[in-house]
Amino acid sequence: MFKLLTGALAAACCVASATAQEAVVNLYSARHYQTDEALYANFTRQTGIRINRIEGKANELLERIRNEGANSPADIFLTVDAATLAVADSWGILAPVQSTVLETRIPAHLRSANWFAFTTRARMIVYNKRKLQAGDVPTYESLADAKLKGRICSIPGGHIYNLLLVASQVAHNGEAATETWARGVAANLAHPPRGGDTDQIKSVATGECAVAVSNSYYLARLMGSEKVEERNLVKQRIGIVWPNQDGHGAHINVSGGGLVKTAKNRAAAIRFLEYLASDEAQRHFAEANNEYPAVPTVKFANEELTAMGAFKADRIALPAIAQELAKAQKLLDRAGYR
Ligand code: FE
Repeated sequence: MFKLLTGALAAACCVASATAQEAVVNLYSARHYQTDEALYANFTRQTGIRINRIEGKANELLERIRNEGANSPADIFLTVDAATLAVADSWGILAPVQSTVLETRIPAHLRSANWFAFTTRARMIVYNKRKLQAGDVPTYESLADAKLKGRICSIPGGHIYNLLLVASQVAHNGEAATETWARGVAANLAHPPRGGDTDQIKSVATGECAVAVSNSYYLARLMGSEKVEERNLVKQRIGIVWPNQDGHGAHINVSGGGLVKTAKNRAAAIRFLEYLASDEAQRHFAEANNEYPAVPTVKFANEELTAMGAFKADRIALPAIAQELAKAQKLLDRAGYR
């Protein structure tokens, strides 16, 4: 009896104290990469703070946070494109974070008042080496050239990756010139847009089309594929162009996030954001998921990214691109690029 009683007391004591002291961050994430698991585990090991992750589509997570209102358990919102971050901003979902670590490590053009980018990905041009040469497609603008008629494969015009690229074209070249360009690209398509970036790279590799635009990490993933045929096909057939190197540089998108305004675990959440900007986490993004670190000083070892070479990235502020999204969507509709 005595033994049993002490056992019950001991259990009561420890469960209660664990609950009172357990540090947790509720992470609403639209990142769906298995490789992120290691990041969260490392953070927990180093800090004792548990990451409770709720995964979903970016827009659904944002709506969920909005609907949950002041009671939302969300501490951090993390996503994979600048457009969704801009929506989070405009809905007032996020709160500014005062952090010397984040402000010194994340370059100014890769953050807004309320969010920080942790990785970048570039939209690069991939072409079939038997059909074209790099000099044929040096810029995004060159994709409207009539000599490419019937030779371009593309994701849907309104896909967020394409939409952001077009919005950046509006920011650089103006709405009218961008619409003319979009009409030109639409007229050059081999077939109606379909699939994702990986599908486009494969279509270029097999010769179904001559050229496409893709996010850099999809190409790196195929270059390092476990399937030897896939690896060889890409190696033998795909040439890459970093676009607009004589001008503003290649368009980049980001994965990033911020502190939810109603966060209950504020201090732990900020610690997690700072961890994502650490050398260790930044290196992990590059080495495990082929993304570029947002922190420019971070060194990493990734054979595929090294093979793809260095490039000049567009340094336009991402919020300035996001501002042009509505214009981009409308001009793509008018151009019949859907
Ligand atoms: Fe993606």
